[in-house]
Amino acid sequence: MNVRHAYRSILSSNQLKLNFPRFLHAGRPQLTSAGDGRNGPDVTSQGTRVFPRVKTVRALIQTDTSDHGADCHNVEDEHWLNAFPTPISTPMSVHDLYKARRKSWGINALGPSMVIEIEAEDGTTGVGIAIGGPPGCYIVENHLSRFIEGQDPRDVELMWDQMFRATLNYGRKGLPLHAISAVDLALWDLLGKLRNEPVYAMLGGKTKDRLPVYSTTARPDIAQKLGFVGAKVPCAYGPADGDAGFRKNVEIFKSWRKKVGPEFPLMLDCYMSLTVPYAINLAIALKPYGLKWIEEVLPPDDYEGYADVKRALASSGVLVTTAEHEYTRYGYRQLIRDKCADILQPDITWLGGITEARRVCAQAAAYDIPVIPHGSSIYSYHLQYAFRNCPIAEYINMSPKADKITPYFGGLFPDEPLPKDGFIDLPDRPGFGVTLNRETLERPYERSSDHSKMQADLNINRPIPERPVMPI
Ligand SMILES: [Mg+2]
Repeated sequence: MNVRHAYRSILSSNQLKLNFPRFLHAGRPQLTSAGDGRNGPDVTSQGTRVFPRVKTVRALIQTDTSDHGADCHNVEDEHWLNAFPTPISTPMSVHDLYKARRKSWGINALGPSMVIEIEAEDGTTGVGIAIGGPPGCYIVENHLSRFIEGQDPRDVELMWDQMFRATLNYGRKGLPLHAISAVDLALWDLLGKLRNEPVYAMLGGKTKDRLPVYSTTARPDIAQKLGFVGAKVPCAYGPADGDAGFRKNVEIFKSWRKKVGPEFPLMLDCYMSLTVPYAINLAIALKPYGLKWIEEVLPPDDYEGYADVKRALASSGVLVTTAEHEYTRYGYRQLIRDKCADILQPDITWLGGITEARRVCAQAAAYDIPVIPHGSSIYSYHLQYAFRNCPIAEYINMSPKADKITPYFGGLFPDEPLPKDGFIDLPDRPGFGVTLNRETLERPYERSSDHSKMQADLNINRPIPERPVMPI
């Protein structure tokens, strides 16, 4: 008998009538009664389904250091994403010591992937993943878990709000948001498994029958042969490489255009490494070679600079994209309000998870701005199926020479869906539809089950308002 069946069996036993499990009654007026027999054993007296509460939050890291997991930069030295052999311009390229390879300045410094497991009282477990390593795990175990344990897993808005408000004094962007994202994704995965539904179905259902995908790669010619709808290559040189570097950038792009022919869409990713005039001049220089979009040309805080670039390129036909390093509805509101980009590219494992990403998609929809998320594999794909203004997916080619299709999350999800013939098709499985490989995981800041229970009791027995108050 598996855990789920065991749970159902407890619910249907006579013992239930004498000794309700805590999650069926404590502090929840609507859950004061389990099934009355008419609607089935796990249905409330009002006909709604009983959901188990969250029992434990676990923050794990991958111990297999050869597996890149959630960090697409945590790759071997001789890998195209580590700028081998072709350079990749980065914000650190202005410092000669750190120009040659991306890992030299610690692009992967947070260490192994952060894997969050959220287990419900019936044993059902959801999984969320982000870049974060041990520092991210510390935040989840010692701070965020208190807002999750004991909660009804359907209350994602409540939990997100508490996590975000409680981290305002050190958070708002960056690592704390990665941690919130991973917890939020684990909750959505758990909810899908409890409801027996894919996440896209819970978000409003499919807006498209199939999701086209483009590839970020060092080999657009191979991406074209594999059926992708377009390819994005990294910008090799930045302003510190002077006019010679600028000319080399144009030559590289021109040679790819020659290889893939005039029809195949080509884009350029500049990873926060250019300046306003350099970005404008480069886009104009590449326009004759069919540059579709120019991506993340400036550091993410330079909203004014992005608006300048977009304004300057408005009549060029080259689109300006950005925002994989932007966070929450507030950051995206600023990008939209200041007319910084033609396309927004949130990473679902960084910006705040599904709960915040759906707000960003809704904001962008009101301005007719497409949202084409950065990487994030399954966590993006489910969102993209559910939102009409998410027209294509990104697949970052993780093979060292960009010549093979391999899983975005390395060995973490052996059944991760992969692009085929230019589409991502999702299996009809609950949650995000993937199985976590738990073989090489450890929990660096393990808490006792008593600690989880103490935190759960605080949430379950929280005060319920007795008198209404005008809240504004
Ligand atoms: Mg990018």
